[in-house]
Amino acid sequence: MGALRVALIPAPGAPIEIREVKEPALETGAALLRVELSEVCGTDVSLHDGRLEGVPYPLVPGHVSVGRLEKIRGDLADVDGRPLREGDRVTFLDVHRTCHACWYCLVAKATTRCPRRRVYGITYGLADGLCGGWAEAIHLKPGTLCLPLGDTAPELFMAGGCSLPTALHAVERAGVLPGDTVLVLGSGPVGLSAIAVSSMRGAGKILCIGAPDARLEAARAMGAAATLDHTRSDERARLDWVRERTAGRGADVTIEAAGRPEAVVQAMRFTRDAGRVVIVGQYTDHGDVSFNPHADLNRRQLDVLGCWGSDFSHFHRATGIVRDPDRSRPWSRLPARRYPLAEAARALDDVRRLAVVKALLDPRVSA
Ligand SMILES: [Zn+2]
Ligand SMILES: [Zn+2]
Repeated sequence: MGALRVALIPAPGAPIEIREVKEPALETGAALLRVELSEVCGTDVSLHDGRLEGVPYPLVPGHVSVGRLEKIRGDLADVDGRPLREGDRVTFLDVHRTCHACWYCLVAKATTRCPRRRVYGITYGLADGLCGGWAEAIHLKPGTLCLPLGDTAPELFMAGGCSLPTALHAVERAGVLPGDTVLVLGSGPVGLSAIAVSSMRGAGKILCIGAPDARLEAARAMGAAATLDHTRSDERARLDWVRERTAGRGADVTIEAAGRPEAVVQAMRFTRDAGRVVIVGQYTDHGDVSFNPHADLNRRQLDVLGCWGSDFSHFHRATGIVRDPDRSRPWSRLPARRYPLAEAARALDDVRRLAVVKALLDPRVSA
């Protein structure tokens, strides 16, 4: 058994380290995934900043990845019961050990709130094994749910990456109807995927407010009819811009994928009376914000919904989309930059500065 290179966050704020770790011994029901591509997302910036709870450092980040099953111990199958074989290209649900036995799983039917769930690359640290995608290989523990990708190019799946299941969950919560005007706040990967998924749901018109220019250009390529740079407009100008495009009413549905707390209040204000607002961008705690309960919420008769993570159904739909040459087309238009594993720190910095639309880590190439 050889050594495998990983990039890891030793502790919050500490520089990214490249290390070699021993190839894990595989128990029955486990597999070794040879990573073809992983990604650097906004969550990884939060992990490096120490802004997420329950994270055991040192940590190998990279919660969504694609690779080939190099070694399988025992029998593994996909959700349709088809056996998975060594050499198959797969992704896997980053959430592990959802218990399907607790109150949240069984009564609330909200498995994304199961207290026993653990997440590869987020709440599984290096002490738990080789559990992150910023690595040459990942130890898929027994019970990890793999989804076959056939001959789909790894870069096509990773253009969506973690953002596509998240966006599928948000758009599902938003209940977009054919003809709806959907406003997406934020033009990061989740916002961009939400644009394409809203379009699939039959949205009549999709508007996006975000920044910088390269991401707004990507938003138009994904299906947004119009975009506005939030750094060059104040809240009043943004409201006017939305109203001009919605017969003075506001959007039918607003999906907040911006991350700043003020965006939540603006999402409510930019939505029409009796419309629907989904909050998916507040993955970390950036503080409080105030709003007027009478003017912004009660009188407006809004539905405001939170959206946390994603579950197997969203990954299943995501792989279905990318395996379809027609439906995957929007993601083929997303510009992604690739970095070798040794340049994980630079990739993280580029994501932090919004200098890239999408950052992919390729452990197969050396720096
Ligand atoms: Zn549970
Ligand atoms: Zn992510």
